[in-house]
Amino acid sequence: MPSDSPLPPRTRKLVDDCFLHDSERLRHDEAIALLRERVSAVAESETIALEEAAGRILAEPVIAPRNVPLTDNSAMDGYAFAQGAYDATGGFFPIDQRIPAGHPSPEPLLPGRAARIFTGAVMPLGADTVAMQEDCEQHEQDGAPFVIIPPGLKRGANVRLAGEDVAEGAALIPAGSRLRPQEIAAIASIGQNRVTVSRKLKVAILSTGDEIVRPGSPIAPGQVYDSNVYLLRALLESVGVEVTDLGVLPDDPDTIRSTIRKASQTHQAILSSGGASRGEEDHLVAALDALGTRHMWQLAIKPGRPMNFGQIDDCIMLGLPGNPVAAMVCFLLYVRPVLIAMSGAPWPDPVRLPLPAAFEIKKKKTGRREFSRGWLTRDDEGRLLVDKFERDGSGLITGLREADGLIEIAEDVTGIKRGDIVSFIPFTEFGLPGK
Ligand code: AMP
Ligand code: MG
Repeated sequence: MPSDSPLPPRTRKLVDDCFLHDSERLRHDEAIALLRERVSAVAESETIALEEAAGRILAEPVIAPRNVPLTDNSAMDGYAFAQGAYDATGGFFPIDQRIPAGHPSPEPLLPGRAARIFTGAVMPLGADTVAMQEDCEQHEQDGAPFVIIPPGLKRGANVRLAGEDVAEGAALIPAGSRLRPQEIAAIASIGQNRVTVSRKLKVAILSTGDEIVRPGSPIAPGQVYDSNVYLLRALLESVGVEVTDLGVLPDDPDTIRSTIRKASQTHQAILSSGGASRGEEDHLVAALDALGTRHMWQLAIKPGRPMNFGQIDDCIMLGLPGNPVAAMVCFLLYVRPVLIAMSGAPWPDPVRLPLPAAFEIKKKKTGRREFSRGWLTRDDEGRLLVDKFERDGSGLITGLREADGLIEIAEDVTGIKRGDIVSFIPFTEFGLPGK
């Protein structure tokens, strides 16, 4: 990368030039395989407070410096004792100690004696078993307390062992993990309040088209409000990157080229919508050609056939189609995993649920993979089915709204009958919240 670039010097080359420069339509699997192979982690790392770390990607593994729990402790309120003095008939134990949580006993427990103990309290030396208080009877004899413990308790019952959750020295969380609330809790449990995570990628977004105007301003016939910029910003936030909005660019080659060139020097990726085909008014492709390496994709998918991919120096350029449905589908399928991999996490592979169709498709073109908007429903017996948004138009945001996932229909399928098993990818698989 050029030495005067403000991008961090540790940034490695993202892809090399052996991408297919393919005028033919690339199948979905081929596109994914290619991206997967070529895109590498480029994010720098930074150390941040644990309370800021939810959703971030771990850049260095977290190693446990100590056991969790730190010591053997009681899992119940009850009575601690040693198995040695206990047999099939149960036992009678004088109570010598009282051990609340946070107040370990300095004295070992003598054989044949019990300690009143509470949940989370350290087991006294010499004891190995806890009887639940609900199963015991406590009495007094001549002012001295004793407990009757019923038979049948196995050695170690109701005791949590030191290190049973996390063992000292264990690799607790590998680098590349996304920190969910439970990982944050695990890191806190070993006493760490800072973590080293991938720095958020800097991603610039832009809209293109003479007809596009930003919401909040008046609109005239022939104009269209810019919904994509909001769609993409929200999608990018769900991935966890830092977004710069470059605005709406007119269908003017010089403006597009100079804006992209400038942004490529200060961002790790540029994401555009619109102008992605080879039409006379689609200038993004030419700009990418002039400034860097283009890997123009004609994808064999619906929606979203034109999807640009390329690079300008070490900045990735991702050009989405302008239609909102195509933009969202291509984002989820291709842009999201690219950004996640660039951020240092493993390539995500969304789970497909095989479910019976509650719809039919009389005739489907072969040779392309289709991603319809769908949702879960139930039949009369309560079994899950997947239904499909009827209309096809890739400008219909309504379909995206009604959906809670994508129905994936393979290249070779010619039609679907009700009850046929289809693949459904819930939006939650793409890191989006449920409805
Ligand atoms: P294009 O890819 O530029 O040919 O645009 C395809 C369609 O998507 C056209 O109908 C555009 O008006 C529409 N479109 C393009 N950009 C946006 C945007 N940012 N927001 C909403 N619709 C858009
Ligand atoms: Mg356009």
